[in-house]
Amino acid sequence: ERANTINMNAGPSPLPDAALLTAAASLLSYPETPGMGIAEISHRSPAFDNVVVKANDSLRKLLEIPSNYRILWMQGGGLTQFAATALNLLAWYRIKNQLKPEDEVDAWYAVTGSWSKKAAEEGARVGVNAKKVFDGKKYGGGKFKGIPPASEWDIPQLEENGRKPAFVYYCDNETVDGIEFGGVGSETSFPFDKFDPEVPVVADMSSNFLSRPVDVSKYGIIYAGAQKNLGPAGVTLVIVREDLIVDLDEAVKYGGTRVPSMLSYKNMADTNSMYNTPPTFTIYVCSLVLRSLLASPPLPLSSPDARPLSPLSDFADQKSSLIYAELDDGSGFYVGTADKAVRSRMNPTFRLNGGEELEKKFVKAASEKGIKGVNGHRSVGGIRTSIYNAVTLDQVKTLVAFMREFRDQNQ
Ligand code: PMP
Repeated sequence: ERANTINMNAGPSPLPDAALLTAAASLLSYPETPGMGIAEISHRSPAFDNVVVKANDSLRKLLEIPSNYRILWMQGGGLTQFAATALNLLAWYRIKNQLKPEDEVDAWYAVTGSWSKKAAEEGARVGVNAKKVFDGKKYGGGKFKGIPPASEWDIPQLEENGRKPAFVYYCDNETVDGIEFGGVGSETSFPFDKFDPEVPVVADMSSNFLSRPVDVSKYGIIYAGAQKNLGPAGVTLVIVREDLIVDLDEAVKYGGTRVPSMLSYKNMADTNSMYNTPPTFTIYVCSLVLRSLLASPPLPLSSPDARPLSPLSDFADQKSSLIYAELDDGSGFYVGTADKAVRSRMNPTFRLNGGEELEKKFVKAASEKGIKGVNGHRSVGGIRTSIYNAVTLDQVKTLVAFMREFRDQNQ
């Protein structure tokens, strides 16, 4: 069954077979703790400690994470990080600037799609003045469809000694809308140069994590829910620059609010992510996925000095280009929803010119061929083909052949 199924779910999504086979065996008996499965041992045991150490080690190698960044394994998904990023940086900013309780704090959000929009709303809910430096809905006339150059954004000019925002926030790949900074064939990257380098940049990389090299040193915080390229749902990876980690209780002196201790980056960093019981099995599977990415990347390194994630980037370009070429075949049968400059390499989204009924037929016919999960997010409809790292080139070719056949039969 598995061999005949092409799983294009947007998340949770397919994971590499090798990792799953090892994980399955380890549920009954883990080699370091014979007779006891990996989900049955203490998170405070040397065996589990090793799991985290190895996972962190693989991550540091793959993402070339500098030593002044901490890796935290947290719970509560991406949505919890919408609040946690804001609360931790609010506290950092209040302490750094010795603010008074009445002082307000700004945070700037580039709203390029559904998830960054939600993040801005959550930031406002937990106490920042969330300002949109770009509003993709306005730009797209009610729909998220593109990101123009930053010269067309609404970035406030800061006067000399004016109040800086506590952080700038963006989402690297908008999973629902199929919009990515640096999408396929494009150079559109996040415009770091338009912002004060002292202001930390926060990036939600939930859905394109581990799909290309990243210059971590440009960021204050990078986070990613595991359930796309990293592992099963249940854990969120946070990579945070050390100097931004503060004691949230200290910020109360400067007008901060009390924050639940589980949201504190400091608590997580001080305890190596074991402030409470972490989702041990999920983290273990993540460690296996990371190991498999290091040991057997999907394409060979293009040169000996290529960066560790370059093969995954080439792989994502290759796969997504095949789908986009089909959208651009000139027939107009399929219509991409995102501007060409920001087309996601992970979640190509499109509509059928024939309308919603035809889209339903497409999803059903795909499913009958074993191609699962291609319906668009419930909030936007249409079609979304999620092609994360574990989706093979052959599977994408099968999808494209299906798209052609469906077009020929329904044009
Ligand atoms: N950010 C992005 C980019 C996402 O794709 C998602 C979920 N798919 C979220 C945030 C929310 O994550 P969660 O469901 O883990 O809270």
